[in-house]
This record gives sequence, C-alpha cells and structure tokens, in this order.
Amino acid sequence: MSYRLFEDMNLLETFKIPLKEFMNYFHALENGYRDIPYHNRIHATDVLHAVWYLSTQAIPGLQNAVNDHGSASDSDSDSGITHGHMGYTFSKMYNPSEDTYGCLSGNIPSLELMALYVAAAMHDYDHPGRTNAFLVATSAPQAVLYNDRSVLENHHAAAAWNLFLSRPEYNFLINLDHMEFKRFRFLVIEAILATDLKKHFDFLAEFNAKVNEEVGPGIDWSNENDRMLICQMCIKLADINGPAKCKDLHLKWTEGIVNEFYEQGDEEASLGLPISPFMDRSAPQLAKLQESFITHIVGPLCNSYDSAGLMPGKWIEDSDESGDTDEQDEDTDTTEEETSEASETITKKKKCKRKIYCQITHHLMENHKMWKKVIEEEQKMEAGEKELSEPIQAIREEEESNAKQENSDADSDE
Ligand SMILES: [Zn+2]
Repeated sequence: MSYRLFEDMNLLETFKIPLKEFMNYFHALENGYRDIPYHNRIHATDVLHAVWYLSTQAIPGLQNAVNDHGSASDSDSDSGITHGHMGYTFSKMYNPSEDTYGCLSGNIPSLELMALYVAAAMHDYDHPGRTNAFLVATSAPQAVLYNDRSVLENHHAAAAWNLFLSRPEYNFLINLDHMEFKRFRFLVIEAILATDLKKHFDFLAEFNAKVNEEVGPGIDWSNENDRMLICQMCIKLADINGPAKCKDLHLKWTEGIVNEFYEQGDEEASLGLPISPFMDRSAPQLAKLQESFITHIVGPLCNSYDSAGLMPGKWIEDSDESGDTDEQDEDTDTTEEETSEASETITKKKKCKRKIYCQITHHLMENHKMWKKVIEEEQKMEAGEKELSEPIQAIREEEESNAKQENSDADSDE
C-alpha cells in the first residue's frame, strides 16, 4: 500500500528513493504493529489511505498553487530548502474536469506531503492497545519516560524513528540532503504528536481562528506553519475517520475499538482499578460512545475542515434537481434540527453558496442519525421495561392493600 501510494504520487522518483530500502523499512514498520483489535496494521493502512484521499481528491473551490505537474517557483520558507523538492505533485488519478476544483497536493510541496504519508504509516507503531490514561494510571515505563505527556504518540514516533535509524538497510531517505531530512523528520514528528486527542480542542481552536471567514486571516499557503497545521488537521481527520465511512465499515471499526476497550476494562478490573467509561464489557454503551464521539469530536473537526474549504467533494449542478440532490436536501433538512449548531451553520452556508456534495459529511450525518435512533430505541425499551414492571407493581400493591384490608377486617371481626 505504501509502495502503491508513493508510486502514484511519483515520490519514489522525486526523492530518488531506493526501492529495496523503502520496502525493507515499510515491511519492518508494518510488522511492528501488534495483533490487537483496533490499533493494528489495518488501522495504520486505513489512515495512510485516508491522508492520501484527503490530499489528492478534488476539492470544490480550492485554488492550486500550480495547475500542472510543474514545480512552482516557490521561494518561501525559512526552512532553507531551495532546490527542486519544493515542487508539487499530483496523484495519477487526479483529473478534475473543471478548474473550479483544486486539491491539497497542489498546495503542499511534495516533501511535506511525503512527511504526512510517512507519519500516517508510523502514527500508531507498537500500540499496546491501552490508552494514555491507563499507562499514566499504572505508571507504565513509557508514561514515566515521557512524563505522562502524549505518552503513546511520543512512543509511536520515537520507536518508528528508532527502527528507521537502526539499520542502513532501512534508509530510504538516503538521497535527501541534510536540511531536507531535518525538516522531514520534524514534520513527521509534529504530525504524529497531533494525533493525541487530548490536544484535539487546542488544534481545533487554532485552526478555527485561522480559517474563520469573518475574523480569521485565512490559510496562507506560502507560510510553512499554516501548511503544517493543515497537515496536522488532515492526519487528525484521517485518524478518526471511522464514522465518516459507510455504515458497515463504521460498525466494523466500532467493534474493533470496543473490543480493545473491553480488554483494557478487564485488565483494570483485575488490577483492582475502577473500570474506565465505555470499557466495561458487562455494560456495553456502543451507541452512546459513538454518538458522543461524533457530536463532540469528529463532527466539529469535519465541520471546521469543511468550512475551511478543504473537504473533497463535488459541485452539485443547480439544474440537476433530481435524484441525489433531492435526497441530499432531505438529509440536510431532517438533520438540521437534530445535530449540533456547527452543522447548522454549514447547512446554511451551503444553501447560500453553490451546493457541494461530500461523501464524508454525508456518511457522518447518516451514522450520527443511526446512533441517535439506537439510543432512542434503547431508551424506549428501558421505559417499556418500566411500564411492564409497573402493572406488576400495581398488582402487588393492590394485593398488599387487599391483604391489609383483610387483616384489618379480620382484626375488627375479633
Ligand atoms: Zn490511530
């Protein structure tokens, strides 16, 4: 997968990557993922695919820094990198029919793009299947090593880089010059550390302040810090893209994460620790977990990413009022009242501008609706059980009062 993707983006040629070393390293990296229900090699591959998708697919209304495969005469950067590698690259599958589309890879130089992809492949390397909170609570060696801060993320980055540096046979970056390598390594580490959800709201706030249409300065693509922030948002979105997939896939990933959670819950119980929320297998709360994850984490992230105009999608022709368009209208109408304020703003925004269809947002709304329905049904069932038990209770009370009555009757008889 890494090979296919590097090949598609022409990165092997651009950075003169020796194939043998490339294969050696990515093979070793893949083997360093553990056989656990969620944070396994498939998740890493999935996130790698997702950053490729987000960075190569057509985005309506985005302007590319360059429009063809040429490298822009970019002289930005305090990075000191001046020669050819500041060029841009496009997926071989990228072929937008109109110039009203752009894509991230048309605005992010290939070295930074390659850093994003390598970060995605590395980002959960040697994940133990336990959360940061657990490692901290149990004073795991890694928590001590990293002073309880982004313990897992620090470990993934450090261990994956350690693997890279451990053997010359892994050095697929041999043809980067010193400055390029330094910058590349920095970007990879920053992208991996960005996947710590504890920092989620900090990233979101920084990003929102930048892209907010009224008061924010907007994205300055010639500023390397702005581009890094975009890459961080991109890998964050890729990392939690489960609810943005079709229902079947979303359910599969949900099953994975709860099974990993339950294993932690079991260990917590065996250690005499309180079982963390959602990790008690005897009290499953699937729907609540996913609904709140979408409402508080994935939804707001998707909304800001979308309102920054970075979400791949399709313009919907105004003339095309049939089929998909109608369906989309219905969806937006029904979800408008239910979902968070943030998505209302998006809906309104879309209504006054030219319409865009986006598969990611569409799936997210569908899945959100599904979980809400499940919660509603669960609540109804609970209420139903109460109702069921109520008549029984009533009968009992009646019996009791009758019995008392009889007793008192009997008493009075005496
Ligand atoms: Zn991950």
